[in-house]
Amino acid sequence: MKKKIKSYLTDNKIRFLDNSEIGDFLTMRVGGKVGFIIFTDSNEKLTELLEVLFSLKQKYILIGGGSNIIFPDYGKDLIVIINNSSEISMEKKDTLKVNTGLKNTDFLEYCKNNNIAGFEFLAGIPGTLGGATAVNAGAFGESISDKITGGDIFTEDGNFEYMNKDFFKFEYRDSRFKYGKDIIINIYLKFENGSKNSIKNRINEIVKLRTEKHPPYSSFTAGCFFKNPEVEGKKLSAGKLIENCDLKGYETEEAMISDKHSNFIVNKGTAGFSDIEELGRKVQNIVKKKNGISLEREVIFVSPGGDKF
Ligand SMILES: Cc1cc2nc3c(=O)[nH]c(=O)nc-3n(C[C@H](O)[C@H](O)[C@H](O)COP(=O)(O)OP(=O)(O)OC[C@H]3O[C@@H](n4cnc5c(N)ncnc54)[C@H](O)[C@@H]3O)c2cc1C
Repeated sequence: MKKKIKSYLTDNKIRFLDNSEIGDFLTMRVGGKVGFIIFTDSNEKLTELLEVLFSLKQKYILIGGGSNIIFPDYGKDLIVIINNSSEISMEKKDTLKVNTGLKNTDFLEYCKNNNIAGFEFLAGIPGTLGGATAVNAGAFGESISDKITGGDIFTEDGNFEYMNKDFFKFEYRDSRFKYGKDIIINIYLKFENGSKNSIKNRINEIVKLRTEKHPPYSSFTAGCFFKNPEVEGKKLSAGKLIENCDLKGYETEEAMISDKHSNFIVNKGTAGFSDIEELGRKVQNIVKKKNGISLEREVIFVSPGGDKF
């Protein structure tokens, strides 16, 4: 089977790495060797590849920027697709059609240059529009689900069709795609008109705020490790709860709780999957014991068999 996939990729001039470290492509840098890492740079190549893998009954995981996910130390049969499709077009006068491999930074640049407002909250969130949609990314009280009207989906049963927003099953930092198998090819985003200067100023303001509060982008993290829990209808800060347990800056040999923001777990450079898993579990146990509150993980884990959990 590996041979078949390899010759398909070679014949179709699709770039791939064979038996290589997926961790190199993830912001937390946790993940060992996988069978294939495949880079698609257009929707045509991506959808055809998905059809081929579907017909071969091959399991795969598609990622974008790899900024919210970690992989096992070893997964020799895993096929990982890194989606780099990045076209944008005007669908209607108030709606954009965007390839989901587009990076948030490039999208914001487009918004700024075309007076498109309402997406500034994405500033400083690494990754792609596809990843942002799958995890319903957000900040400062806004989420991508507020803007999406629908998407073109490659469904897990091999169909390619337009689905409206209800299909996405959005929740706080969650959607059907986060742990599911359907793939979003394009999303449709409703926008407002704004002025280049005000969009630029808001982006700069947000980036400044984030730089003050978060660990530097050069550190190996996957963003907030836990969701902010809701208790009696009120959202609490997971970071504050962790800090109140005196865990800010807590270190093991391989990983630590950021001393800048307690909801960030940082890979010190050599952490494997179980080092992160154990530290996460330890934090959950301590917070539960002290406050009776169960923290739910936000960062996605992948099993050696290729399931997201
Ligand atoms: C420093 C830092 C700061 C962060 N700050 C924030 C923040 O403020 N708010 C926030 O919400 N998050 C934040 N994050 C987390 C992360 O950046 C976001 O969740 C981001 O939107 C994930 O996008 P990605 O492309 O990297 O997704 P990936 O990590 O590549 O993938 C995440 C999930 O999406 C799925 N997926 C990706 N593309 C598709 C697709 N086309 N179709 C179907 N499924 C898909 C993957 O399979 C996986 O399940 C931060 C992370 C870092 C490192």
